[in-house]
Amino acid sequence: AIRNEDKGEFPMERRGLLFVISGPAGAGKSMVAKKLVERHPDVSLSVSCTTRAPRPGEIDGVHYHFVTDEQFDELVRKGAFYEWAKVHQNRYGTLKSTVQEQLAQGHDLILEIDVQGCLQAMEQDSEVTGIFVSPPSRENLEKRLRARGTESEESLNIRLHNAAREVEQAYRYDYIVVHQDWDEVPDALDRAIEQVYAIIEAARAKTKHNMRFLNALSASLKAGNTIEPFPAFQSAAPTRARMTK
Ligand code: 5GP
Repeated sequence: AIRNEDKGEFPMERRGLLFVISGPAGAGKSMVAKKLVERHPDVSLSVSCTTRAPRPGEIDGVHYHFVTDEQFDELVRKGAFYEWAKVHQNRYGTLKSTVQEQLAQGHDLILEIDVQGCLQAMEQDSEVTGIFVSPPSRENLEKRLRARGTESEESLNIRLHNAAREVEQAYRYDYIVVHQDWDEVPDALDRAIEQVYAIIEAARAKTKHNMRFLNALSASLKAGNTIEPFPAFQSAAPTRARMTK
């Protein structure tokens, strides 16, 4: 498992923290994750591998690493995936190398992945923070799924059925963020984004992730020597370009 402890020399080698975000289709998790990293460039979004075909406007290496079934098989065989799952008709996976590189560079990383993938990640690594993005009600989820326009009655029912199974697993996550109805709460998206960011900030502020700083400060106060001050994460913003490889 990939550890998130602050193992390196403070502050340059601070390891990043890993967050997994999931929730039922239609709850808006991908929008929350996408907008969060746009607004907070001190957080990175992982780029997954997928066997599905690119949609118009999707760029290989930016939105996904688009791979063939054979290439995906080979990656599974080599044990290259941190987690992977079959979602609908296609396979999706997060590369171990992506996670390792980002954390080693000190970037806090979000995996926006399906529930199966989140459960895998949280099971294999107790340091992973799991965030479940939930709709406020069944009616609202149904409304959002219908608003996508592409939902036939049959696929709508499949998605609602899947949502029931996914919400049943939500207790395994560390946090739940309710994405409110836009008609009732006009800034619902902003609120969900800021709530997720607050969770990230809280994880960063855990004492166990700041022991090098505390030890250095303590020593400095006793000995009167100078240490590098606590870094401002925001100013060390990793860009989207740096996070994709
Ligand atoms: P889409 O095809 O619409 O981009 O994504 C479909 C689903 O696949 C979404 O629920 C998304 O969260 C999930 N997904 C995307 N990347 C990964 C991944 O690397 N691993 C897993 N387990 N799910 C993923």
